[in-house]
Amino acid sequence: MTGEIPPVNKAVFIVAHHTSNWDGFWLIVYKFALNVEVTFLAKHTLFWWPLGPLLKKLGAIPRQRRGRQPDVARRVASLLQAQQGSCAYCGGELRTSDQLELAHRVARQAGGGEERANWQVLHRYCHVKKTAQERRRHV
Ligand SMILES: [Zn+2]
Repeated sequence: MTGEIPPVNKAVFIVAHHTSNWDGFWLIVYKFALNVEVTFLAKHTLFWWPLGPLLKKLGAIPRQRRGRQPDVARRVASLLQAQQGSCAYCGGELRTSDQLELAHRVARQAGGGEERANWQVLHRYCHVKKTAQERRRHV
């Protein structure tokens, strides 16, 4: 690292993706050495137990790489079966003509995780309502 930390209380640095796998290691070293809060994106495949919870504690945010999420269709199918075709929010039938969305049961801000048990399938409009309710609760 070259230069100095600017003499301000808060600053945002936007840093390009790393060029070596050691960059992540050094990021963590600097985070503790300089006692600064660091948040960074990491590929979602790194978030397995116990590495995932550790990375989140260190400031990592799981990031899906570009392109469609290959496992979404399988997850939705599995959850639809578990929910017996009903929306987890309103209890109404989920039809193939409806816009469906995957949603966290317990929102991430409220401590919800990425594990299967914390996922549910909702109507798109039910997801919007659920999110709005949660925002009201957290403001
Ligand atoms: Zn619904």
